Amino acid sequence: RYQQEIPVKGDDEIAQLGRTIQSLGEQLQYFEDSRNDFLAGVSHELRTPLTYIKGYSDILMKGMYQSSEEQKQYLQIINNEANRISILVNDLFEMSKLQVNEFILDREVSNINQIIEKVITNLKPEIWKKGIKINSKLHEIPLIRIDPKRMEQVLYNLVENAMKYTQQGEILISSYKEKGFIKLKVKDTGIGIPKSELTKIFDRFYRVEHSRARMTGGTGLGLYVVKQIVKAHEGEITVESQENGGSTFTITLKI
Ligand code: ADP
Repeated sequence: RYQQEIPVKGDDEIAQLGRTIQSLGEQLQYFEDSRNDFLAGVSHELRTPLTYIKGYSDILMKGMYQSSEEQKQYLQIINNEANRISILVNDLFEMSKLQVNEFILDREVSNINQIIEKVITNLKPEIWKKGIKINSKLHEIPLIRIDPKRMEQVLYNLVENAMKYTQQGEILISSYKEKGFIKLKVKDTGIGIPKSELTKIFDRFYRVEHSRARMTGGTGLGLYVVKQIVKAHEGEITVESQENGGSTFTITLKI
């Protein structure tokens, strides 16, 4: 562990080199720490569903159930937990792709409103099934050079979250031009996010209230991926939210 800092006095080249090496050491330590946190996060996320799968499959193998109803219930748990692992592995894969490519975007002149329409069409059946409405207010915006696949993923993640964390009401997606920028908003009438958590939700693996998030089968990677993609487009993403008062995610892109 990088711990000891030897004071480097003076202003000559050797002293400057000394300070540079020290600051490099600190940076390396930072990366080492975040890598360790990351691995700890992944192991933790995998361990929980695996424990369920192992436990319930043991029970089934030993025939320790009273009825076929009970048997079905255990199989359902195994199935759900396997799904969780599969979502996690997918999210990890998306994340590693982002890192390997170092954010090389496959940009082409794109119509963002069309991408929004596509995301809405794909998610509509699931959203309606939950009894939530989805609407859009798409204004005329200029075509810009973005990576359409990645932007679709961003919108997909945001709308999926809006759906996951909303019990009733409406999801509204809007796009408009404001000075030299394009604004995209995904607004929901869901459970909202406490003020104290707002800055943390874009962190890797961060979920508000673990137990509640677990029920919705999230991994805490979605918004991290979203933020990395938006940043790669030199854009910005912000969130406004109130507990039980819905959330609004806003993406700002330069024209
Ligand atoms: P997850 O896979 O858990 O949804 P995300 O990175 O997408 O992970 O989001 C991180 C956390 O932010 C979520 O666990 C949830 O607590 C909170 N969150 C994200 N979007 C919303 C939303 N639209 N409404 C309420 N909470 C949200």
